[in-house]
Amino acid sequence: MKLSAFARKLTADAGITSLMDDLGNAMASGDDLIMMGGGNPGHIPEVADRIREILAGISQNDEDIRRLVGVYDPPQGEKRFISALVDLLNREYGWGLTPDNIALTNGSQAAFFMLFNMFGGEDGEGGHRHILLPLAPEYIGYADAGIAPELFRANKPEITYTGEHEFKYRVDFDALDVTDQTGAICVSRPTNPTGNVITDEELARLESLARQHDIPLIVDGAYGTPFPSLLFTDAAPTWNEQIILCLSLSKLGLPAARTGIVIASAPVIRALSGMNAILNLATGSFGAVLAEPLVRSGEILRLSRDVVCPFYRQKMVKAVAVFTEAMAGADCPWYVHRPEGAMFLWLWFPGLPISSLELYRRLKARGVLVVSGHYFFPGLSGEDAGWAHQRECLRVTYSQDDDRVADGLRIIADEVRAVTAQAERP
Ligand code: PLP
Repeated sequence: MKLSAFARKLTADAGITSLMDDLGNAMASGDDLIMMGGGNPGHIPEVADRIREILAGISQNDEDIRRLVGVYDPPQGEKRFISALVDLLNREYGWGLTPDNIALTNGSQAAFFMLFNMFGGEDGEGGHRHILLPLAPEYIGYADAGIAPELFRANKPEITYTGEHEFKYRVDFDALDVTDQTGAICVSRPTNPTGNVITDEELARLESLARQHDIPLIVDGAYGTPFPSLLFTDAAPTWNEQIILCLSLSKLGLPAARTGIVIASAPVIRALSGMNAILNLATGSFGAVLAEPLVRSGEILRLSRDVVCPFYRQKMVKAVAVFTEAMAGADCPWYVHRPEGAMFLWLWFPGLPISSLELYRRLKARGVLVVSGHYFFPGLSGEDAGWAHQRECLRVTYSQDDDRVADGLRIIADEVRAVTAQAERP
């Protein structure tokens, strides 16, 4: 059997598939691992209670049960949810949306696959268009999403030091090269893996570049604004026809409902709906029907701001405090990316004597599952491909139980100290 080049890439690459397999197998192994590797949301009782209440209401009503599981929705997605979201976003932000501006997908991951292949790859005129990631490190889930080879070009960030042991990446606009072959620009905001939030000013500059080149700026708001709002810094909710804003219900606490939301100009939504029809026939209704009452009443925004955001903020503060204490007086340089959002600490150990992949292996052997940072640099090429920084970072998820996270962080600190001490021995 001969596989296509795209399928071969998926079977050979150590990308999102092998990472998700590794995390899934580790979870299923029954070993008592401290899980700081995945992107699973934490358990927030107030969110779970509201979902339980809504489900109970649906279960009492024949028409609602039918909407939940008994009908194929149109390929654009569940109409009542879309209409409620249009009303909410227009009311709150004045975006002037109509239902033609929103499509649902089976998780936002599926939206990225469709969008990247809508704007990148062969252009039918002999050209090859790429997706520009203006700030690497960037979400590993993009890495293998191109049917055409070499879909991504990424830019190294500017590194600024914001504290004794804290740094922040910024877009290096001087090095950013948007060309006639750029099909779209894409950023996650907040960024997975770093917890960085590109500033309103950076976003405006990216939008202006996109406008100059008549290409979309794809903003991945899986953790962002207006919901679920895992944001610990100011970031204005922004949309206009130059922007394709991708949202998700996953990080609110509904990852298994697989509901992604794309807000874009009407032609983009039409094309996306066409792809949805080919790939899925219809999108799943479950998440849309479940979340519709929260959207219709605006409660989704209140829950995001007043419950979800503080839940993650206090976890982040604890995690930083524990790691800072555990690294106190360490001989090796260490930094945490300024944690401005999402659910990750991004740790950087300049000059780490072993690779981050080897550090991941050693931590796994000690019962702590994290993700090696080298996965998160899709699209770096030329000289940048060898950038040592890629092998000096770890992504650590702090969404789970605080005490377990604290234990995991102490083990990471202990291992880094041990590795450094070993390297220094004559
Ligand atoms: N974008 C980012 C930055 C993510 O971290 C994730 C998942 O972790 C996704 C998109 C995809 O999420 P989903 O497909 O569950 O909406």
